[in-house]
Amino acid sequence: MKTTAQVAVIGGGVVGCSVLYHLTKLGWSDVMLLERSDLTSGSTWHAAGGFHTLNGDTNMAALQGYTIRLYRELEDLTGMSCGLHHVGGVTLADNRDRFDMLLAERAKHRFMGLETEVVGPDEIAQIAPITNTEGVLGALYDPLDGHLDPSGTTHAYAKAARMGGATIETHCMVRETRQRGDGTWDVVTDKGTIHAEHVVNAGGLWAREVAAMAGVYLPLHPMEHQYIVTDALPEIYERDSEHPHVMDPAGESYLRQEGRGLCIGFYEQPCRPWAVDGTAWDFGHELLPDDFDKIEDSIAFAYKRFPVLERAGIKSVIHGPFTFAPDGNPLVGPVPGLRNYWSACGVMAGFSQGGGVGLMLAQWMIEGETERDVTAMDVARFPGWLTQEYTRPKVIENYQKRFSVAYPNEELPAARGLRRTPMYDLFDQMGAVWGAQFGLEVPNYFAKGDEPRSETPSFRRSNAFAATAREVATVRQGVGINEVHNFGKYRVHGPNARAWLDRIMAGRLPKPGRLSLTPMLSHKGRLIGDFTVSCIEEDTFHLPASYGGQAVHMRWFEQHEKPGVNIENISDSLNGFQIAGPKAGLVLQAATRADVSDMRFMDVRKLTIGMAPCIVQRVSYTGDLGYEIYCDPMYQRHIWDVLWNAGQPYGIAPFGMRAMMSLRLDKFFGSWLSEYSPDYTPAETGMDRFIAWKKDTDFIGRTAAEADRPTRKLCAFVVQADDADVQGYELIWLDGAVRGFCTSGGYSHHAKASVALGFLPTQSIAQGLQVEIEILGQMRPARLVTEPLFDPDGARMRG
Ligand SMILES: Cc1cc2nc3c(=O)[nH]c(=O)nc-3n(C[C@H](O)[C@H](O)[C@H](O)COP(=O)(O)OP(=O)(O)OC[C@H]3O[C@@H](n4cnc5c(N)ncnc54)[C@H](O)[C@@H]3O)c2cc1C
Repeated sequence: MKTTAQVAVIGGGVVGCSVLYHLTKLGWSDVMLLERSDLTSGSTWHAAGGFHTLNGDTNMAALQGYTIRLYRELEDLTGMSCGLHHVGGVTLADNRDRFDMLLAERAKHRFMGLETEVVGPDEIAQIAPITNTEGVLGALYDPLDGHLDPSGTTHAYAKAARMGGATIETHCMVRETRQRGDGTWDVVTDKGTIHAEHVVNAGGLWAREVAAMAGVYLPLHPMEHQYIVTDALPEIYERDSEHPHVMDPAGESYLRQEGRGLCIGFYEQPCRPWAVDGTAWDFGHELLPDDFDKIEDSIAFAYKRFPVLERAGIKSVIHGPFTFAPDGNPLVGPVPGLRNYWSACGVMAGFSQGGGVGLMLAQWMIEGETERDVTAMDVARFPGWLTQEYTRPKVIENYQKRFSVAYPNEELPAARGLRRTPMYDLFDQMGAVWGAQFGLEVPNYFAKGDEPRSETPSFRRSNAFAATAREVATVRQGVGINEVHNFGKYRVHGPNARAWLDRIMAGRLPKPGRLSLTPMLSHKGRLIGDFTVSCIEEDTFHLPASYGGQAVHMRWFEQHEKPGVNIENISDSLNGFQIAGPKAGLVLQAATRADVSDMRFMDVRKLTIGMAPCIVQRVSYTGDLGYEIYCDPMYQRHIWDVLWNAGQPYGIAPFGMRAMMSLRLDKFFGSWLSEYSPDYTPAETGMDRFIAWKKDTDFIGRTAAEADRPTRKLCAFVVQADDADVQGYELIWLDGAVRGFCTSGGYSHHAKASVALGFLPTQSIAQGLQVEIEILGQMRPARLVTEPLFDPDGARMRG
C-alpha cells in the first residue's frame, strides 16, 4: 500500500468516489481513497438511485443539474454503465402554496438553463397515467428526473478516478487521523499509516466517528428510510415506455417504475433517527427490519393517489439509514478550526448531489475557491457550538419537511430558544414574533393587540404587513430601537492589525474614531464579505458584518492569520442596540452626559450611556439617522432602560427584522448573500465604490477586481405588484426575452411601493427603463429607478 499521498479520502461511497474522480479531473493524481470494506458499503448500496434537480437553493439546484448531466460523461469515459433511466418526472401540487412554490422554482430553473415546465392536470394524466389527479392543481415536469444503478455509478466514478491516477484501497479501515505540526496528516489504517497533505472525510454513515478522530463534531445525523418495490403490474409492463417519476409532496412520497412494477418511498412523519449514540463499525450490508407501522398513513394516501398500488403485491422492502445535516443540504468544505481537513459529508441525495459535491470540493482544494457560491452546502454555515442534541431534532424536522412547501418567510420550530439575549423576556412581553438566525432568537416584528403571535408562512404578503408598516413609520417619523445581537462582530487588534486588515479588506481603513465600509474579496475577486470597519484605537478595530457568516469569516481570517494580529469573534460577547430615525440623535444625547452634537456620520466614539461604557458608531442600515451602541451584554438591560426612558418623549418603539429589511429597500441597500455573495463581484454590485484603488497595498483579489469588466449590473426597480413581492431569483423580462434576474425585494412601507433589486445587462440599464418581472408566474410591469425612495441626497443619514 502507498504510504504517502497528496490527499487521503476516507470512504468509498458515491460521495468519496466522486470527490476522488473530481480531484483527478482537476489535475491532482496523487490521491488515494481508503474504504473499510468494499466500495458502496455504507448507505450507497441500498439507495433507490433516483435523481432530480429540485432544491430550494438555486446553486444547489444548478449543481444537481451538473450531477445528472455528468453521468453520460462518466459512461463515455469509462465504458461502464451507470444504468441510467432518464424518464423525466413530475412533482405534484395540490394546493395554492405548493403550486406557488413550483412556479417560483420554475422561474429559477429558467435562469439556470434547466428546462422544467409547469403542466396542468390533463398533461399530468398523460405523462404519468397511474396518477389520480383529483384535487391536483398542476405539477412541475423535469425532463432530467430519472434513476440509475447506485453500485454501477459508484464503480464508474471509481474507475474514472483510477484512470486519472488515483489509488483505491478497499478493506482498509481508518482508525486514527493525527495532525503533524506542519499541518499534514498521518492517517492510521489497519494496513499501515499514510502520510497525506490533505484528508477528506467522506465517511457517510460513519462521518461523525471519522470526524471525532480529528477532534471535531460535524452536525449530521442518520435517519431510517424505507421504500417498497412491488410485483409486476400490467399498467406498467404493458406500456410502450417507462413510467416517469412522480413526486407527491402531499403524500410525502416518490414513485418510479422498477422493472415491471413500481418502487415507492416515503418521508413519513413518524420517522426515526438511527444510531443516536454512534454508528457501529460492524454495520455494513444488512438492512433494518421492515416497519410498515410508521408508513401506514403514507401508504393509505398513496393508495388514493396511485390506485394501482392497491392491487400490487410487495416484492421487497428496503429499509436503511442515511445521513442528513440540520437543513438537509450537504456539509462540504474546509472544516473550521482544522488545517487541510475537508468535509464531504451529510449528503442525503448522493445521486442528485454527489457530482456537484465532488466538483465543488475539488475546486476548493485545488484552486482555493469554488466557481459559485456554495454557502448552502458549506460546512461552516452552522455555528461551532452545535451539539448532537441540537442537531437531532433539526434533522428530524428536516426529514419530516422534506416534501413540505418551503416558504421564504418561514421560521422552523425545532430546537428553538437555546440562544437568547437578556432582552428576550422583555421583548416577548412586548409582543415579539420570533425568528431564528444562526440559532439565535431574533424579533421579526412586534404584534400588538389582537394580532396573532406568529407569522403565516406565505409566498405572498403575510400577516406581518401591518406590524411592519407600523415599525417602519416609527423609524421614519420618530425613533425605533432594536438589538444588535444578530450582527457578526470581530475584534482585530495588535501591532500588525492595520497592515493585516489592509491586505484582507479591499476598502480604505479608517483613522482612529472613524468607520469605513469595505468589501472583502476572494483571490478571484468575488465578494466574500461586506464589513463596516471601525477604528477604536490605532491598533484596535471592530468589524460588524453578517451574523450568519461568522464561521465562514473566521475560517477565512484564520487561514490568513499573521503574527502580531489577534482576531476574535466577539459576536455574542458584544451586544447593544441600534436607534434609528430623525429623533435618534436627541435620544442619544439624553442618554449620555457627553456632547454628541458634533458626532458626524461614520464617527465612532467611546461613550458612557447611563452608567455603562459603550462604543457608539453613527451609521445605520435603515438609511436614516442612526447610531449603533455596543456594550458588554451585562449592561444590556441597563442600557435598554436608559434609552427607553430617553426615547419616551419621541415615541420610541422597538422594530424587528421585517421592518429593517423594508427600510433598507428604500435606499436600495443590498444584503449579504442576496446582493452581496461569492456569486458576484464588486463591479457588478456597485461595491467597487468602496474599494480603495489608490492604496498601495496588494489587497486580496486586487488583480481580479482591476481586470473585472462586468457585463451585468445590479439595479433597483419599482414593481407594480399587488399581493406578492419579489423574494429572489425572479426573472426580469425585457422586450419579450429573459434578460436578468432578481436578487431580493419586498415592500417599501415608507414609499408604499414594491421594490426589487436585480441584475440586468450593463448596456440595457437606463433610468426609467420599463421591464417585466415574473412573480409567481405572473408578469409584473416594473420601472428601473436610480434615485433612492428615501433621503435621496443623504441629508437625513449624513446631516
Ligand atoms: C433507503 C434509501 C433510499 C435512498 N434513495 C436515494 C435515492 O433515490 N437517490 C439519492 O440520491 N439518494 C438516495 N439515498 C441516499 C444515498 O444513499 C446517500 O445520499 C449516499 O449513499 C451517501 O453516500 P456517501 O458516500 O456520503 O456515504 P456512504 O454510502 O455511507 O459511504 C461512506 C463510506 O465510508 C466508509 N467508511 C466509513 N468510515 C470509514 C473508515 N473509518 N475507514 C474507511 N472507510 C470508512 C464506509 O464503509 C462507506 O462505504 C437513499 C438512502 C436510503 C437509506
